[in-house]
Amino acid sequence: MLIAGNWKMFKGPGETASFCAALLEELDGEPGVDIVVAPAFVSLHAAVAELEGGPVRVYAQSVHWEEEGAFTGEVSRSMLIASGATGAIVGHSERRQYFCETDETTALRAAAALEGGLSVIACVGETLDEREAGETEAVLRRQVEAIAAAVPEPPAGLAVAYEPVWAIGTGVTATPETAQEAHAFVRGLYPVELVLYGGSVKPENAEELLTKPDVDGALVGGASLDVVSFTEICRTAARLSRS
Ligand code: PEP
Repeated sequence: MLIAGNWKMFKGPGETASFCAALLEELDGEPGVDIVVAPAFVSLHAAVAELEGGPVRVYAQSVHWEEEGAFTGEVSRSMLIASGATGAIVGHSERRQYFCETDETTALRAAAALEGGLSVIACVGETLDEREAGETEAVLRRQVEAIAAAVPEPPAGLAVAYEPVWAIGTGVTATPETAQEAHAFVRGLYPVELVLYGGSVKPENAEELLTKPDVDGALVGGASLDVVSFTEICRTAARLSRS
């Protein structure tokens, strides 16, 4: 089970350092579940400085597929590794929606990161219009197959996050049944070890989602910004992993 916090464009280096110190204090030892935090690029170093050697891993929120070059605003896998990050999120719906990222660039980012030794959380998910038009499976198939074309044998370091766009940051969560159905579909397309759910996960709904057989963890946005709610979700996951 993996619980990952996507901090989006929140928390600069100072806030990141104090959050990470508080997180370690709250977790108080071995958490019993894999935990990741994904700060902004500029805060990676602060997170690594606090968390290095402990149970919480640090991922970036994106990664470019080239080693270096004229790609203003982008960061390469070597740069991430040098800053101490061990993984990256790719293809988040906000990257797709606001920054023109596509299935192809998501696949390029995932493949390059994995080749460089980083772990990856690759995001997929349908919009509300696509769901209402009955296109959920077609969209998931297109998005997952693009990743599978670039990474035919999913390695252990690759997780896919099913994040229905209509559930991200909206407070609306997919029902556990809807999540389970989509996760099973994704897993049927691509034998990835972990399929995470993302979309308004909070302490109150974590258990019902995480108990579904094909839900292997969560990618948490809003609720990961608060150390108490994030730790509570991690504790729920740890308890369920033990049972
Ligand atoms: C996310 O950013 O990946 C996400 C799922 O956000 P939230 O939990 O806020 O919906």
